Amino acid sequence: MRILNFLKLPVLLFICFSLSSAQKEKSSGKYQCLPCGQACDTKMYDEPGKCGGCGMNLVTASTISFKTIGPNSVCDYIEKHPGAILLDVRTKEEFEGKGMPDFGTMKNAINIPVQELERRVTELKEYKTKEIIVYCSHSHRSPQAAYILTQNGFSSVKNMSGGMSEFTGGSCKK
Ligand SMILES: [Zn+2]
Repeated sequence: MRILNFLKLPVLLFICFSLSSAQKEKSSGKYQCLPCGQACDTKMYDEPGKCGGCGMNLVTASTISFKTIGPNSVCDYIEKHPGAILLDVRTKEEFEGKGMPDFGTMKNAINIPVQELERRVTELKEYKTKEIIVYCSHSHRSPQAAYILTQNGFSSVKNMSGGMSEFTGGSCKK
């Protein structure tokens, strides 16, 4: 009997240890940087804080839920999904073709610069359940805009990878 009692301690310790390491595994890589279109977007962090790559705040990885569409699939997509909304998150000047260089823009696009999106998101409230394709020049600003939209309850948001600088044209080009 005494030997049995003696054995209980290591067994308990072993159980505690395995539980805590299982919990650790579960929480590892829980955070990612606020999407910024750079390589660091795919890096996973264990603790909240700032991204070592771009300096952006880290967010819970599970809250990043937008999809991606290639720049040269957008026009076909718009033809097949005429209800989809195009959101250009560059500055007004870039949107109006005064950017240097001028990458052009898309037909029927709405322009809200990413810096103003949080404040102006109510302007888009009628499109909350519609598909929204977000783009900028190089897909550095648009992932952040796509994140802001999904955080504000927009259910179907796509980020155009590469941005207008990689867009070669098509029926939806303005
Ligand atoms: Zn980063």
